[in-house]
Amino acid sequence: MTVTQFLRDTVPALLDGFADVYRFNDVRLQARRIAGECNPMGVDNQKVAGPATHRSYPENCPPSCAHLKGHHRTGNASCMSNKGNLRKHNNKATPGWYPAAVAATACIFHAQRTYPPRKARLHVTGGLWLDGELDWQYIDCLTGTRDLDGIVTQIKRRLRLPPDTKVAFGYAHVPHGDWRNRLMDHGIHFRLSAHADDGGVITWPFDHLKVLEQHLGRRITRCPHNLRRWINCQRCRLCFLRDNNLIAFSPTLGAPRDTFDPPELARELGLIPKTT
Ligand code: SF4
Repeated sequence: MTVTQFLRDTVPALLDGFADVYRFNDVRLQARRIAGECNPMGVDNQKVAGPATHRSYPENCPPSCAHLKGHHRTGNASCMSNKGNLRKHNNKATPGWYPAAVAATACIFHAQRTYPPRKARLHVTGGLWLDGELDWQYIDCLTGTRDLDGIVTQIKRRLRLPPDTKVAFGYAHVPHGDWRNRLMDHGIHFRLSAHADDGGVITWPFDHLKVLEQHLGRRITRCPHNLRRWINCQRCRLCFLRDNNLIAFSPTLGAPRDTFDPPELARELGLIPKTT
């Protein structure tokens, strides 16, 4: 299967197949039946209150990720994708672009057809990488090629949505670049993981944030949910409404308390020991 065949034949077939099914479970079954394979999808992701896709860890992750490589002292990978329920979904995902693009089609379509419309969450586990390189085929599927409309444009046309509708959200551990502008132009907002600047998010213990703020000379927003559990992402929406802020998450879900992101910066600030 090539990206051209996928956009020309498979996406229209999927959208035809989804037209008469309304429950998410049926959309999921249709996706598997029509496309043959599809990555795991969740029904009610708490970040967007909508459906979510999974990709494979570690094949779809950046090889340089500190959480993938492991904690500086214990050596254990601290990534959330490797723990609990996420690990179970993740084990069922396959690394290539095709099953991820099928899942993205199903989730974006279903999220926009519910009332009120929602955003889909793209790859709760895994990322935009494939074998150490940015997965351009997956990005082409979402945004389209020179000759063919991508998943997002085909869904917007089918559901008669305004062209500027925001349809999906995700975190990507990739430096800002053309890839992000293309996705943002199509209504897919990616916040940059391990990026200590506008539009970024870092994992950093809150009691060390003042040192980091002094070092960077800028304000860092503490995730309101980490500060007060009763504020959820649906109330807050800071991650996906604005792009001119830097957000910090406190290490959670069993990640070691002194997990810093990126560790080089933490070493430079003397927050974790320098390696010899
Ligand atoms: S900053 Fe807001 S939207 Fe982002 S994770 Fe925290 S509570 Fe959720």
